[in-house]
Amino acid sequence: MSTLNRTRSNRLYEEAQQHIVGGVNSPSRSFKAVGGGAPVFMERGEGAYFWDVDGNRYLDYLAAFGPIITGHAHPKVTAAIVRAAQNGTLYGTATEHEIRLAALLKETIPSMDKVRFVNSGTEAVMTTIRAARAFTGRNKIIKFSGCYHGHADLVLVAAGSGPSTLGIPDSAGIPPSIASEVITVPFNELEGLRQALERWGDQVAAVMVEPIVGNFGMVMPKPGFLEGLCKLARDAGALVIYDEVISAFRFHYGSTQTLSLFPDRDGIRPDLTALGKIIGGGLPIGAYGGRSDIMAMIAPLGPAYQAGTMAGNPASMLAGIACLEVLREPGVYDRMEALAIRLADGLKASADRNGIPLTVNRILGAFSTHFCDHPVTNYEEAQGSDSERFGRFFRLMLERGIYLAPSKYEAWFLTTAHTDADIDLTLEAAELSFRDMAS
Ligand code: PLP
Repeated sequence: MSTLNRTRSNRLYEEAQQHIVGGVNSPSRSFKAVGGGAPVFMERGEGAYFWDVDGNRYLDYLAAFGPIITGHAHPKVTAAIVRAAQNGTLYGTATEHEIRLAALLKETIPSMDKVRFVNSGTEAVMTTIRAARAFTGRNKIIKFSGCYHGHADLVLVAAGSGPSTLGIPDSAGIPPSIASEVITVPFNELEGLRQALERWGDQVAAVMVEPIVGNFGMVMPKPGFLEGLCKLARDAGALVIYDEVISAFRFHYGSTQTLSLFPDRDGIRPDLTALGKIIGGGLPIGAYGGRSDIMAMIAPLGPAYQAGTMAGNPASMLAGIACLEVLREPGVYDRMEALAIRLADGLKASADRNGIPLTVNRILGAFSTHFCDHPVTNYEEAQGSDSERFGRFFRLMLERGIYLAPSKYEAWFLTTAHTDADIDLTLEAAELSFRDMAS
């Protein structure tokens, strides 16, 4: 069924495939995980909506996989980018903007004594690992199944069989020797981590985690999980790295480390944190930071090298500052949460009415949906949800002008631009889509 005319999108996809590998510049933009076919080519965005090249309008819950939290073309962010463009986009020198954004991050992420800007979440994560290795003199990394940390060799490693095993490459082109430095254990249970640390503890540089998962749906750590993780890591002399590329500034103005849902701040304090997405206001960015003594390993202070021609560029810095200023306004997160509650509860009720099993994980203003009748607390449970059903739902919603991320593992992101009327529209589309699926 296709009611929307997407002639131009389809034609551009044909053309794109002749020039761009797979027709897309990131595999997550393809529709491979939702049944294939031409992805939609967008032309323009404003607030909570974007328009494709055929003039169709979509309500956007993708938010560009997270960064667009103030909606498309927010006037304050746009003005900041224009200002940057008018003053020259890149100098290759230090600027005051970098200090201002670093200070804003430090203000709300108390474990970050020092910050360094890079260009993507991947780079940020990659360098936290280098810093941890340089500081500890150890090589191995422990990560958790299903957490995504970008596309660097070391983190594109899947679990071997068993609860705590050396990793196997999750992508062609990664040498087994690199994968063998990574240990993957299940999220939300400490036993696998304990076993891994018992066996390899004196070789482990760091335990890396998405403290609130955003990559196999939205998944909260169980009570005590982060505290236990931090303690086990420290007892083994390993550092703790939080990948907050999605979670920072998504749920409140700050990071997981300062979220009121976690009262024991000291007990969950990481040594290093990787950031990206929201902090650039929609322009390319990454940042990492942490304890002064660890960050002192990084060049020019220390022997661990990391650099970047585009790092800290004025446009990303000014867009990031503008975005954080919007998010800092009173009531912003409360409004997104109120909308998320209405939408998440409404979707669940609608699915129930139509006899469709749906698990909804909502964390404040963001949530995920899994087509299954069991809770989703780890990757295995997320994998067990129905991919085909999700694909069908995705397509039915798309035809009704609601744009979800084209993967069953991605979240629904609200923005400051979404309104109650948008939620009504979405719930109507969902009710009709669930009805179609049930019939
Ligand atoms: N870490 C997490 C938690 C992510 O979700 C992502 C991207 O989705 C990354 C790292 C990589 O960020 P980037 O795509 O900016 O390289």
